[in-house]
Amino acid sequence: EVLRRNNIACGLTCVVTSTNVGVLEGIVDFAYFLGNVRKIGFDILRGQGRGRLLTPPTAEEMRAAMQRVYAQRDKLTQLAGYRIAIAQEERARTLCQQCDLTFGHCYAMNGEAAFVDAKGDIYACSSLVGDNDFYIGNVFSGIEASLVEKTQSFIEQSMEFCRQCDDFKRCGGGCFARWYGCEYKADYGAECAMKRESIKQLDK
Ligand code: SF4
Repeated sequence: EVLRRNNIACGLTCVVTSTNVGVLEGIVDFAYFLGNVRKIGFDILRGQGRGRLLTPPTAEEMRAAMQRVYAQRDKLTQLAGYRIAIAQEERARTLCQQCDLTFGHCYAMNGEAAFVDAKGDIYACSSLVGDNDFYIGNVFSGIEASLVEKTQSFIEQSMEFCRQCDDFKRCGGGCFARWYGCEYKADYGAECAMKRESIKQLDK
């Protein structure tokens, strides 16, 4: 609202849980109501830190929610005369043009990430700070190349299922931290459902 009053455009990110998945299209209404939102991204809850206190949506809930989100976005595009982008749809469009971007979002898998906590310890992923399995060094002693390689290899092997997926080229691969944080790995299907509904938009 403050940005709108100052004519500044912005994007919204909405963390999706089992609690709000049933009203996700309300974010689209809210964005058009404000008038200065140009992009909306949906970020399914990761089961780390405070995220453990909540539950992610199921795949079926997420599929239905994204269908309602895109329908509402298309309806309001007609009424308002401009289109708000959905981040997952934009990413699928980009990947169609540059297929080599698969897993480009995962700096931990690519050995390019360093997240430092208050003690100076360094971790491979922001969502996994504090987890010893993803510790890669300390600001005083430096990053240990062997730990970076170990982390990269573990993440690559864990996410191999994405490389076998028919939608990999247009999805780009999932989020390792989200997958890792799923108490029941079947819950991870919500991310696939979100990506697949977004990919379908490209075929319209
Ligand atoms: S749709 Fe799911 S399994 Fe397929 S590439 Fe994307 S995240 Fe991986």
